[in-house]
Amino acid sequence: MSFERIAIIGLGLLGGSIGLALKEHLPGAVTTGFDADPETRARAAERELVGTVCASAADAVRSADLVILCVPVGAMGAAARDIAAHLAPGVVVSDVGSSKEFVARALAEALPGVAVIPAHPVAGTERSGPDAGFASLFRNRWCIITPPSDADPAQVEALSALWQALGAKVEIMDARHHDMVLAVTSHLPHLIAYTIVGTASDLEGVTESEVIKYSAGGFRDFTRIAASDPTMWRDVFLSNKDAVLDMLQRFTEDLTALQKAIRVGDGEQLFDHFTRTRAIRRSIIELGQDDDRPDFGRSDHGD
Ligand code: NAP
Repeated sequence: MSFERIAIIGLGLLGGSIGLALKEHLPGAVTTGFDADPETRARAAERELVGTVCASAADAVRSADLVILCVPVGAMGAAARDIAAHLAPGVVVSDVGSSKEFVARALAEALPGVAVIPAHPVAGTERSGPDAGFASLFRNRWCIITPPSDADPAQVEALSALWQALGAKVEIMDARHHDMVLAVTSHLPHLIAYTIVGTASDLEGVTESEVIKYSAGGFRDFTRIAASDPTMWRDVFLSNKDAVLDMLQRFTEDLTALQKAIRVGDGEQLFDHFTRTRAIRRSIIELGQDDDRPDFGRSDHGD
């Protein structure tokens, strides 16, 4: 089986990128879309993010064989309730939410008897809204699919094939495991970035202009992450609370160990730690998951 009529609910960064990638890679697919925000709908129509931007979620999903919910995690349940009565028989409902156990529960509750196969493309930027999407967002990025235990293997296969057609590499994973892995690779780094940027801007004795002027010293990379969408990230932390708190506890213990090494002058411990972390960066580059050029290829070095 393969999907031919795809409805996208939420036409921001993720929904728009899926629509544009479908147009590029699966031009035969019929795409429809809806967004709760009328201005976003108008802009989505101008940018032709999907074939038809519909005036209601019901219209968008009515004849779809795949619906992909691309709304903030906290809005998944409401978006699913809006479409529940209008879905075609045999439809598969998926999503792109950044936490999976919470979303799987919300969708299963809102859509009893419907085939729900949650997914999370691990691809994004700090930008949001209908102007943020681009067709190559998923190229060479992982899409993690977290099917429930009773999912139809043919439907899981069809969803995997769709993501691969959009350029992604697919991994099948248990939702709970996904949430633990993403808590350390994505959610905790965002929390740290939000914290450090807040700390720097609150500092007495260092002016805001100095923080901005000398930002290339490392701070700038945190500011990119800390500029991420507040609604999306509020929902991620509230929906993946247990895994994030667990990782935060481990992080705090490791931070305290480094704090002690600095205090007692244990250069060997600091050097060993930094050597280990540098090797992780090398592995990420070897796997093609980041830019090998110094400072991510930026032209204005400042360290
Ligand atoms: P976005 O650019 O803000 O787009 C989300 C859109 O959904 C907004 O236009 C929003 O409208 C709309 N919306 C909210 N509730 C709705 C509803 N009930 N029905 C229809 N539309 C609704 O956000 P995004 O970055 O694409 O994120 C979407 C999802 O992708 C989130 O679940 C996020 O966790 C996940 N994700 C994000 C990234 C990333 O890097 N950004 C990466 C991977 C996965 P309003 O603005 O009016 O609320």
